Amino acid sequence: TVLARHANQPQALVQILRELQAEQGWLPREALMAVAQATGRTVADVEGVASFYRFLHLVPVGRYRVLFSDNITDRMQGSVALMERLCRRLGVAPGAVRADGRVSVAPCSCTGLGDQGPALLINHHQVITRLTEERVDAIADCIERQLPPAQWPAEWMQVEDPVHRADVLLGTPFAPGSALQAARALGRNGTLEQVQRSGLRGRGGAGFATGLKWELCRDAPGAQRCVVCNADEGEPGTFKDRVLLRRHAHLVVEGMTLAAWAVGARRGFIYLRGEYRFLLEHLQEVLRQRRAAGLLGPDIQGEAGFDFDIEIHVGAGAYVCGEESALLNSLEGHRGTPRIRPPFPVEVGYLGQPTTVNNVETFCAVAHILLRGGDWWASLGTPKSTGTKVHAISGDCARPGVYEYPLGTPVERMLEDCGAADTQAVQVGGPSGTCLSVTEFGRCIAYEDVPSAGALMVFDRRRDMFEVARNFAHFFAHESCGFCTPCRVGTELLARRMDKLAAGHGSRHDMSVLQELDTLLHQSTHCGLGAAACNPLRDTLLKFRPSYERRLQSLHFLPALDLDAELSIARAATGRQDAAAHWPPSHPTTP
Ligand code: SF4
Repeated sequence: TVLARHANQPQALVQILRELQAEQGWLPREALMAVAQATGRTVADVEGVASFYRFLHLVPVGRYRVLFSDNITDRMQGSVALMERLCRRLGVAPGAVRADGRVSVAPCSCTGLGDQGPALLINHHQVITRLTEERVDAIADCIERQLPPAQWPAEWMQVEDPVHRADVLLGTPFAPGSALQAARALGRNGTLEQVQRSGLRGRGGAGFATGLKWELCRDAPGAQRCVVCNADEGEPGTFKDRVLLRRHAHLVVEGMTLAAWAVGARRGFIYLRGEYRFLLEHLQEVLRQRRAAGLLGPDIQGEAGFDFDIEIHVGAGAYVCGEESALLNSLEGHRGTPRIRPPFPVEVGYLGQPTTVNNVETFCAVAHILLRGGDWWASLGTPKSTGTKVHAISGDCARPGVYEYPLGTPVERMLEDCGAADTQAVQVGGPSGTCLSVTEFGRCIAYEDVPSAGALMVFDRRRDMFEVARNFAHFFAHESCGFCTPCRVGTELLARRMDKLAAGHGSRHDMSVLQELDTLLHQSTHCGLGAAACNPLRDTLLKFRPSYERRLQSLHFLPALDLDAELSIARAATGRQDAAAHWPPSHPTTP
């Protein structure tokens, strides 16, 4: 059974719940109670964890659970109309479950397939790419015929890896075990020294020096250490880790093993985002091959005492788990709430052990650095931003896909290579990154200029940049983990205020409220998600102000919310539907 497979370990809770749900379709209370009893956790705790993750369901959802990727590039390719079409064909309202319980259709955050969208997920397990009206109609037929998704046409689920520009990471052949051999010849300290000489900085977005992170982890007190690969690339518009995991999984795992060698870890995890569940079997096969080849497990490559192995943990649809301390909480079977830092994970990480968490691409870079030397890597890119960087380019361009360049490459070069024309804006680094306008395309992707975790979304002059920012505002409101009030409430207020402008009810007053929200969110949230939530608003207000101005129709103050609608929950709770329980009341009330 699922619980036995995980030896009733409480830290495996998210995996246990995921797998139970895959068997039962949803998580009834009896199942949660059984899990609580087996794992020694309280029912409230288990319920609290299950309710945190978007891909876990405490109420029945359709036996066919269809989730349309709602990233802005999917929308630009017609995803909204396609979702409406599927809903019409199936007779189900968006977000609802059909009366017969067979199907539900809803939007979800970016599925990491922006190069081959519009895309959707079926039952959190299978992806369907390149949606068209014909494909949507055929999906509806499959659902009505109750055909299991495994029997649907295989070409619908085909995921391609379009690499249009390869440099050292994507273009150099790699023999599994070769970097490990080089590292063992250098010794543990020599390995760390090469990573430090390379100047490599983490590719997940924050840009922390990898060698320093490893040194801090190695030197932190603790009997056990841990290495974690953050494969939770949830930033809308990015999909380069998907390609690295599919085409270069040995490189990723070798990089993790090198980290284990350098810091003295025996245990590792790949935290794979839930939307990439379709990569699980492939990654498990790579781990199996490496164990069989003596590249994982006890005494790696015959080196006595060099023991290291890796488990894969599949996420459950929470963008915030890309933040490393939230990821560790999730790995331990908790809600993916970011931790208070310090202490940092290098000191107190997985189960209190010193832990180094690095991005997929960072581990790939490390393997090449050990083969060719830290000085070689440092000679690429710029002095402050060494090496190459892999980018996922999507949106209005002829060749969406993956491109690798030395850091310091100008955005205009990338636009030229991907076949972008008449471009008015590029969103670098996803919604939490930077929006560049046409006068800034000469700027370079580098930590000292425009840093990027690896996503470039291209918008030509047909696009309304207000609508781009509004889509991003909804993304942050949807993904706020709810832990701190400024973010939980502020992101929702931001999205609603943008909706008000979109509906043509905006006034100058709304613009000042938006700016107040920007200040509030930037200064008072617990983690980077809330702090970055207004970045798209700030950039587009500054650079594309006319797209806001033309929505300011009203000279008068108009409330941003429908007070009567807001009171509906209170009316439901108190069982009142009389006139005095509405706003405005239809007759005067007496005390
Ligand atoms: Fe959660 Fe947002 Fe607060 Fe981060 S800022 S802890 S995502 S509520």
